[in-house]
Amino acid sequence: MNAITEHMSLSTELDMSNYWMPFTANRQYKAQPRLLKGAKGMYYTTADDRKVIDASAGLWCVNAGHGRDEIIEAVHKQMMEMDYAPSFQMGHPIAFEAASKVAAVMPAGLDRIFFANSGSEAVDTALKIALAYHRARGEGTRTRLIGRERGYNGVGFGGISVGGIPANRKAFSANLIPGVDHLPHTLNLEHAAFSKGQPAWGEHLADELERIVALHDASNIAAVIVEPVAGSTGVLIPPQGYLQKLRDICTKHGILLIFDEVITGFGRLGAATASELFGVTPDLITLAKAINNASIPMSAVAASQKIHDTVINSGAANSIELFHGYTYSAHPAAAAACIATQDIYQREGLFGRAALLAPKFEAAIHSLRGEPFVKDIRNLGLMGAVELDSREGAPGARAYEAFLKCFENGVLPRFTGDILAFSPPLIVSEAQIDEIFSTVRMALRSIK
Ligand code: PMP
Repeated sequence: MNAITEHMSLSTELDMSNYWMPFTANRQYKAQPRLLKGAKGMYYTTADDRKVIDASAGLWCVNAGHGRDEIIEAVHKQMMEMDYAPSFQMGHPIAFEAASKVAAVMPAGLDRIFFANSGSEAVDTALKIALAYHRARGEGTRTRLIGRERGYNGVGFGGISVGGIPANRKAFSANLIPGVDHLPHTLNLEHAAFSKGQPAWGEHLADELERIVALHDASNIAAVIVEPVAGSTGVLIPPQGYLQKLRDICTKHGILLIFDEVITGFGRLGAATASELFGVTPDLITLAKAINNASIPMSAVAASQKIHDTVINSGAANSIELFHGYTYSAHPAAAAACIATQDIYQREGLFGRAALLAPKFEAAIHSLRGEPFVKDIRNLGLMGAVELDSREGAPGARAYEAFLKCFENGVLPRFTGDILAFSPPLIVSEAQIDEIFSTVRMALRSIK
């Protein structure tokens, strides 16, 4: 029995009919399920007891590696002490402590932290804060939002509206929020294929923002939101100078710049944030995933003091300043996990470790150049993608088959369309990087 038929026999014991799986080809998956039952360090254990290297840190989120005792103990202790406290008009100490831990690694001045539970919620929160900020300062006409093609900003209505993924929008198009424009994405294989790190070509794409501003007038525009490195649509690295140019244009016109750092936050690129790495400071940053090593749902928005103070001082001292929040904002268990996670990052120097490993990761992923079907390879920090030529009439089939082959052979990457994406936990070893990409090489050679 090969690995996949073993999985199929295991799955016959499971009733799979009730669980409607997210972002999954349900029929395809349930016909050939892949089940994970355990996780420790760099490895998952499959339901049939195989060890699989986690080459994607779950969904770009388990940056400190799986099953960290410190996090488990912190959550357990917190749950024994107090499982829940109301998040509105009440507080608990570790919510404040978690905010301070997150603030400590944000760019200077972006140290006001609003907690939510998912990246999608963080994005919608950031968009709402941007609107509230402009209203609070008497510029309530600033309501338009600008996103980017191929942007993934979660699945809330705000997120899919500013996001630029047709598939995420088309089934819901009638209800997208109005008044949204999109910048062009920055991937260009004609000018910048196989670029290592930031492509030299493409800074001028930020000029599109001036065109949109000229069309609508800055007085009607609230914010621009981009992922500094677009993750989910295949690791799109910003061209040199591009983000700074966006920053300059936003500043010139009083438009807020939001970086969606749900993936890039907490070390993925070898710095605490992409903002720090690129030396470009936005007005708001969305965070999630690695904020607490993905152990318990949690996300956040880091806002500038100016935005915070403007909103907070906009009404009477006894009035609620921002009518927004979640039952589980700064949930005690999630906050405890966040504190323990941030302590691990600092104690083990994991952001710096990612920076040190990045050249090794770059060499390993680019060694796949010339392998069958490889059309582009791109990378930054511990994040990279291999884009394949699509099989005629079957887009996505090649990456899916390569993905299956990797999984059967002990490596779990991500796949999206015909792109394989890699983002291992920051504890990955050099030998494990070699193992990941030699398995991918074998997989590419095995597909048609
Ligand atoms: N923004 C970005 C950049 C993301 O990558 C994601 C998730 N991959 C989200 C937002 C949404 O996060 P969630 O799935 O937690 O809602």
